[in-house]
Amino acid sequence: VKVPSRRFPFAFGRLARALAEVARVSAQVLPEEEAPTPPPALPEPVRVERIDPPEALRRAANLPDPRAAHRASLEDPEAFWEGFARGFAWERPWKAVFRREDRTWFAGGLTNVALNALDRHLPEKAQQVALLTLDGEGRLGKWTYKEVRELSSRLAGLFRTLGVGRGDRVALYLPTGLEAALAALACARIGAVHAALPLGLGPEALRRRLEDLRPRLLVAADAYFYRGQPVRVREVVEAAIQGLDLKVLWHVRGSPEFLERLYEARPAEPEPVPAAHPLFLLPTSGSTGKPKGVVHGHGGYMVGVAWALRHVFDLKPGEVFHTTADLFWIVGHSFGLYAPLLLGGTSLLVEDRPDHPSPGAFYERLAHLGVDVLLTSPAVLRTLRRHGEARPTGLRLAASVGEVLSPEIWRWTREHLAWPVDNWWQTELGAPALPRPPLPAKPGHVGLPLPGVEARVVDEEGRPLPPGSKGHLVLGATGPAHMVDLQGGRSPWRGGLYWTGDLAEMDEEGYFRILGRTEEVIKVGEARIGPAEVEAVLLTHPQVAEAAAVGVPGETGEEIAVFVVPQAREFPEELKPLLAEKLKAHILRHLGPVPPPRVFFRERLPRTRSGKILRRLLKAELLGLDPGDTSGLEEDYGAGKAP
Ligand code: ATP
Ligand code: MG
Repeated sequence: VKVPSRRFPFAFGRLARALAEVARVSAQVLPEEEAPTPPPALPEPVRVERIDPPEALRRAANLPDPRAAHRASLEDPEAFWEGFARGFAWERPWKAVFRREDRTWFAGGLTNVALNALDRHLPEKAQQVALLTLDGEGRLGKWTYKEVRELSSRLAGLFRTLGVGRGDRVALYLPTGLEAALAALACARIGAVHAALPLGLGPEALRRRLEDLRPRLLVAADAYFYRGQPVRVREVVEAAIQGLDLKVLWHVRGSPEFLERLYEARPAEPEPVPAAHPLFLLPTSGSTGKPKGVVHGHGGYMVGVAWALRHVFDLKPGEVFHTTADLFWIVGHSFGLYAPLLLGGTSLLVEDRPDHPSPGAFYERLAHLGVDVLLTSPAVLRTLRRHGEARPTGLRLAASVGEVLSPEIWRWTREHLAWPVDNWWQTELGAPALPRPPLPAKPGHVGLPLPGVEARVVDEEGRPLPPGSKGHLVLGATGPAHMVDLQGGRSPWRGGLYWTGDLAEMDEEGYFRILGRTEEVIKVGEARIGPAEVEAVLLTHPQVAEAAAVGVPGETGEEIAVFVVPQAREFPEELKPLLAEKLKAHILRHLGPVPPPRVFFRERLPRTRSGKILRRLLKAELLGLDPGDTSGLEEDYGAGKAP
């Protein structure tokens, strides 16, 4: 048989590359010592560093004295929030800034978020870009305050002619972009309530959501883009709505029809509504079970999210803000849309995944479009880190929300992107509750509570625990962006405290560290270990790109099981047992005498659509149990399901 000579060097090149990869990977799996060492008797605690923010950042911070602000906010919350709230347009002033009996913010006040996000900035900002949009086909749009006001007020008028009135629900099934932003703002304008649905639901799940929501109108795109490919959803939507009593307004991709229809409609003026009037209903991520429906209102939410963008994410006038979160999650609602417009800033909305078509494109986009402040998630940061080399971006801050930001990823972010601002909050809270910038950071810790927020670590009965103890994270006071209603879930308030459901630890200086969910705590003997503690240790190993830890029943009590995505894309099968041994020793070295963990390798981990690792699914798979509600699961998860 004659081998075509041209193919020879090619095949040889591939072989050489494969061999080099095996050598590189084995070098990482097998550092200096040959065999796994038995764990020493005393664990090496993960060292906590205290790192000062860059001097320039600290000096120019919008919150110059965070300690004084926090004190003032708790001593006299009314006086603290009143000053900031007065900066907005109120049709009628509030009677009380905060009514303690029913925890209502700005009771008696009449306002409108759309009025404050758009009309209030005109005519001064008429020509300033409010929204930068990058659609799935790579088209960049620039939309000024004047245009966004014009288009959204006409859409509001169109909604009215379609029978939508104050308090009615409008379901949005739209990708991140101009149309979704306009639809949300149009609802806000006439006091209707938007309810965004995550893209990618099948017809059954979509129908169930619509049956629960009972919207008067559905605004739906016929397609969206995912990793450069159009995903047609017209048929899915049509199947889902059969027989339901609602109107549909289509956004047909690639056709100017949607915008053209707006020019035929009569613009609607913003309608003043009570501060607690519902603005939107949004599901939580569904990490711990069936998503709950969170309702946010106009007044408190407006004040809270705008305050946070200015004081936590430190946005300055004229700067460009970008969040990689989809518009249909709370992070997208609060910081992709409302807060940047409320501050008169510019927000960049991107339809496709942040690292599409390549991580290089992500860095280029930030640099080219002049993004100053980024809000992303640990999942995105871990992906970027796994890809290797970063490029200069011009970012001033790189904030992270949604999951624990492990020290390793914190350091990578600081080195390759910008000063990291880890921020902890929940859909229910609307805006960050921790940290208090620009104080020194402790990687692995989320920081001190924000003004308006009082946080504690307590036992089951709500009794405060001493610094350094693990317990329930509860809030005595939350900020004004707190939800106005909750549907399909138990009230988080118990004994005058807001129970967050998270496991945390507070140090002597009052810095909080989030260790995972209280219901996911791993009970090993007498010890209580948070999944995040195990994962943070694993992420310090050079061969670990991603990790998830769960507790599983063992011979005595619980054992730790870890799921690891190796750093090398094609990690050699024959080296996996060795790496597993290495990782066990690595965990034992840092966590102390726990039963040897079980190690499983995956190509990827299951995530919610908002990018959080779904540990309950991994646990259910391992134990052969029913996974429960998976409607929040990311659409393209499927690879490597069984352990
Ligand atoms: P569900 O409530 O349906 O189970 P979820 O809690 O994941 O889902 P979200 O409101 O989107 O829904 O997420 C809030 C949770 O995300 C927090 O309770 C916390 O567990 C986690 N989280 C958010 N930000 C951080 C952070 N900076 N560090 C650690 N954990 C975080
Ligand atoms: Mg939650």
